[in-house]
Amino acid sequence: MGCGRCVEVCPPLAIEIIDENANIDETLCEECGFCAAVCPVDAISIPFPLSPQSGPSPWS
Ligand code: SF4
Repeated sequence: MGCGRCVEVCPPLAIEIIDENANIDETLCEECGFCAAVCPVDAISIPFPLSPQSGPSPWS
């Protein structure tokens, strides 16, 4: 879809839209879950394991 809402809410600017898909830079992601919360089509799912110290998952 590539609407870009996730790009706008990502604090560390970890997301870029490539070919209408949101691509997350795992090295920048802080696992806040804002991107998934604002996605109108639930297109964002976590592609990598959460770190143990990150607390409760924002993705569940
Ligand atoms: S979960 Fe990661 S990619 Fe998504 S808004 Fe938060 S920092 Fe950015």
